Amino acid sequence: MENVVVVGAGLAGLQTVVALRQQGYAGRLTLLGAEPHPPYDRPPLSKDVLAGKVEDTTLEADWAALDVTLQLGCRATGLCPGHVETEAGPVPYDGLVIATGADPVRLPGPGSVLRTIEDARALRQVLRPGRRVVVVGAGWLGAEVATTAAGAGCAVTVVEALDTPLAGVLPAEVGRHFTPWYAAAGVELLLGESVAAVEPGAVRLATGVELPADHVVVGIGVRPATGWLAGSGVPLDARGAVVTDEYLRAGLPGVYAVGDCVTWPSRRYGVRMHVEHWDNALHAPAVAAANLLGDEVRYDPVPYFWSEQFGRMVQYAGHHPAGDRLVWRGDPAGETWAACWLSGDRLVAILTVDRPRDLAQARRILDRDALVDADRLADPDLPLKAAAR
Ligand SMILES: Cc1cc2nc3c(=O)[nH]c(=O)nc-3n(C[C@H](O)[C@H](O)[C@H](O)COP(=O)(O)OP(=O)(O)OC[C@H]3O[C@@H](n4cnc5c(N)ncnc54)[C@H](O)[C@@H]3O)c2cc1C
Repeated sequence: MENVVVVGAGLAGLQTVVALRQQGYAGRLTLLGAEPHPPYDRPPLSKDVLAGKVEDTTLEADWAALDVTLQLGCRATGLCPGHVETEAGPVPYDGLVIATGADPVRLPGPGSVLRTIEDARALRQVLRPGRRVVVVGAGWLGAEVATTAAGAGCAVTVVEALDTPLAGVLPAEVGRHFTPWYAAAGVELLLGESVAAVEPGAVRLATGVELPADHVVVGIGVRPATGWLAGSGVPLDARGAVVTDEYLRAGLPGVYAVGDCVTWPSRRYGVRMHVEHWDNALHAPAVAAANLLGDEVRYDPVPYFWSEQFGRMVQYAGHHPAGDRLVWRGDPAGETWAACWLSGDRLVAILTVDRPRDLAQARRILDRDALVDADRLADPDLPLKAAAR
C-alpha cells in the first residue's frame, strides 16, 4: 500500500489519517474534503458556537508531522476502480477510506439547517431577543437549538410530528419525560403536529394552523452523504449508508468506510448498526486503518453519545432495542435519573440525565457485558457499579 486517499475531512477523516500514521503507514496520504476548512468539531455548533461563546472549533492536528496532502474545497464526485473522481480531476488510490459523513434533511421553503460552521454562524445572527423561531423536529438537534434560542431570548416553538420528544430514538415511556423540560425553559412544544409547508414568515401545519416565524430551523435528521458513490460498486443501504462488513470493508478491494456514513454488522447486538454520533467517528478510524494496513480487527463498539439540552447533560450508552426490561434509577420527574435497559440480567443500554458517574460506571459494565442485580441498579443512592455481579 503506497497511496491512501481519505474522502471526507470531518472528525472521522482526520482520525483516519492520524491512525494511519500512528500505525506506521509511511506512504502517500491525501485527505480530500468538500468544505473549505480543515476538519472541525460539530457538537459545539449547536451549543457554544450558536450561543456566541466559541468562534472556531477546528480540530487540533500536526499537519506537518502527519505529512498529509490536504485537498480542501474539493468534492468527490464519483468512484472508479483505482481512482476517485473529484471536482479537480481524478485522484488515484490503492487504499481508500470513505468518511463523507451525513447531510441534513431539508424541507422545501426558507427554513435553515445546522450542520456546518457557516450554518451555525448564520443562525447565531438571527437568534435575537423577541425573534419568533420555529424549530421543526424535537430530536437531539432540535432540543439543543431550542435551548440556545430560548437562552438568547427568542420566542421558540418546537413542532414535532410524533407524540413525544426523541420519539425516533427513544421509546415513548422514556421520551415523554423530556416534555416538561420545554415548558420549563419557556419553549412551546407542539407534539403530534405535522408541518405542511415552511413559508416566508410562517410555518403551516397539516391542520391548517399558521405559526408566525421570523426564522425556521429544520432538525429532522440526516442522510449519509454518499450520493457520489452511486454506481461505484460500493454497497449502499436504502438510506444510502455504506454497507460494510465487521472489519469496515466497503465491498471493493482496499476500500473502507467510517463515521456517520456507515452501517456495520454488530456481533455484540446481532443487528446492523448505523450510529450518527461523535464517539463512533472518533473510534472507528483506528479499526479501519489497522485493517487497511493488513490487520484483522473487528469493529464492535458499545455506542455512546451525549446531548446538552435545557441545562441538562443527557448521555446514552449501549443499544436499548436489545433490552426487554426497563429499570428506572431515580424518579424521571426529578432532577437526575437514569433509564436502564436489561436483557435478562444483562445491562444492554443506559440513558442518564445529569448522572455522569452512572454513565461512566455503566459503560464499564456494558463493555464487559457483565450481569447486574436489577434491585441494586434501581437504587440511585448506591453507586451504579455496586449493581454489577
Ligand atoms: C450541530 C451538531 C451537533 C452535534 N452534537 C453532537 C453531540 O452533542 N453528541 C454527539 O455524540 N454527536 C453530536 N453530533 C454528531 C457528530 O458531530 C457527528 O457524528 C460527527 O461529526 C460525524 O463525523 P464524520 O466525520 O463521520 O462526518 P462529518 O462530520 O459529516 O464529516 C464529513 C465531511 O465529509 C465532507 N464530504 C461530504 N461529501 C463529500 C464529498 N463528496 N467529497 C468530499 N468531502 C465530502 C463533508 O463536507 C464533511 O466535512 C452533532 C452534529 C451536529 C451537526
